[in-house]
Amino acid sequence: MTRFLCDEQLGRLAKWLRLQGFDTIFQCPISDTELIRRAQLEGRIILTRDKHLADKTLWEAIVLIENKSYKEQLKEVGRKVRLPKSTPFSRCLECNTLIQSIVREEVRGLVPEEVYATYEKFYTCPVCKKIFWQGSHVQNSKKRLRMIIR
Ligand SMILES: [Zn+2]
Repeated sequence: MTRFLCDEQLGRLAKWLRLQGFDTIFQCPISDTELIRRAQLEGRIILTRDKHLADKTLWEAIVLIENKSYKEQLKEVGRKVRLPKSTPFSRCLECNTLIQSIVREEVRGLVPEEVYATYEKFYTCPVCKKIFWQGSHVQNSKKRLRMIIR
């Protein structure tokens, strides 16, 4: 299982990797020492913009990300890391936890009325309790992902 740990400069990339379903941690602030320790402990590939860190560390699973724009960064990860098959939209974008479907009635009052009226399927993050629905971020993001990847 390919898992990632993004450095402080790659918060946006981290969200996009999560959106594609990859287990991705983004911790900010984080020191270089802590970054490496956590990667080793959890068996994660470090993605970093810091050339100096990439050169000096003995941890081998570290990938230097050279592009500035997250769209290019996403492509760069695809080129530099052999990515396994993933399940897009399976993780909470805020905290990386696997989301679960939730009975529609349970979100009544927790989401805007027009959202409740419009959408059938709802999901929740068991950790941060954020609610997602099909439509909103899923459709927009799919469109955007296609734009980026194609
Ligand atoms: Zn969450």
